Amino acid sequence: MQQAVVVVGAGVIGLSVACKLQETGKYSVAIVAENVPCANTPQSRLSTKWASPWAGAHWRAWASNQDTDLQEMEMRTYREMLRRADDAPESGISVAQGVELYEESPAEPLWYASMVENAREIPLADLPEGIEYGLEYTTLLINVPKYLLYLKSLFVSKGGRIYEQSIEHILDAVRYAPAAGPASALPIVVNCTGLGSRALGGVNDKKLYPIRGQTLLVNAAEAKRTVTRIGSQKFSYVIPRGDGTVVIGGSVDKHKWSCEPSNALSRQIISRALELEPALLPVQSSETLGSRLEMLAEQIVSVGVGLRPMREGGVRLEIEKMRKEGAGLVSVIHCYGHGGFGFQSSLAFADKALELANAL
Ligand SMILES: Cc1cc2nc3c(=O)[nH]c(=O)nc-3n(C[C@H](O)[C@H](O)[C@H](O)COP(=O)(O)OP(=O)(O)OC[C@H]3O[C@@H](n4cnc5c(N)ncnc54)[C@H](O)[C@@H]3O)c2cc1C
Repeated sequence: MQQAVVVVGAGVIGLSVACKLQETGKYSVAIVAENVPCANTPQSRLSTKWASPWAGAHWRAWASNQDTDLQEMEMRTYREMLRRADDAPESGISVAQGVELYEESPAEPLWYASMVENAREIPLADLPEGIEYGLEYTTLLINVPKYLLYLKSLFVSKGGRIYEQSIEHILDAVRYAPAAGPASALPIVVNCTGLGSRALGGVNDKKLYPIRGQTLLVNAAEAKRTVTRIGSQKFSYVIPRGDGTVVIGGSVDKHKWSCEPSNALSRQIISRALELEPALLPVQSSETLGSRLEMLAEQIVSVGVGLRPMREGGVRLEIEKMRKEGAGLVSVIHCYGHGGFGFQSSLAFADKALELANAL
């Protein structure tokens, strides 16, 4: 007999957890979420409770050299996504060359340099001006709109139901439980509400805060590799989606809740991206820098702003037993607070949530 589960949230974490639970055949799973991915999710649907559609996204380690737990989550997802790029190209995950350029040499060797595939330090002579250290390796590009729809259709195709509803209290999720097991049994609830857990009744986690990020989507069919420049003041990147468009960014503004795009920031993003990856435009030597910037501005498809759901102390991944009035104890598995690393660690966190469910 299957155990009923309600996953709250349909960002990359909620969808990944729901799919992993469903795959085992042990659980009958429903999702309830205020925001559910749809084709061409427009910026007007941005909510402070929903980050996933506005991610880059690529795999580029976020874990520090000291954070071995997050390192494990990122590496496990790296390996699983490499396999998925091969087995399921329709997922929107693809393999590409990744280049990281550091304005200042990292104090210690980067932990992942010895773990990712085809890693190579870029010789000093080949580095652009202002860069002290460079690393290239095989990485993963995630076409975010495609990947979210892929996860959603995987879930729905196996009979999963999705309710597009907001809930006020985490235990309100119980009413969306699929019929499974004895009628009296309470479902397991998995809380994947990201930044939404700040205001969600029964959770109200004030350790959560936003890190605002702004990006532009541009047409640039010739750009194939992902390049990131890491500086003390600025952070820039170019992430091809594999369909002729490229996400360029970015910004990392802690505790900023505004979802309004800044035109001044968009201009800076264009100029930094063109310096980082000249292949964003076809090379024509007679053009001035000014005219190249204008040419790239003409290729803008959309401007995006997203709030990374960051949490002091890291991701909350644990079981909480909560009493539901007149019904008994509900097991709530919390899995939220994935900051700027939700995609590149998603599959490993989904495995961990499954382990917690199996242990109940
Ligand atoms: C500009 C930018 C670039 C990024 N680049 C990368 C990258 O390159 N690689 C990477 O790994 N990550 C990247 N990220 C981070 C990544 O987007 C997040 O870590 C990830 O999206 C978090 O997913 P989530 O499912 O936890 O939360 P969300 O996507 O925020 O989903 C939360 C879900 O919970 C629902 N919800 C919330 N409250 C309620 C409620 N009360 N009732 C019902 N439903 C509720 C929401 O509607 C939504 O469905 C980037 C983010 C940004 C903004």
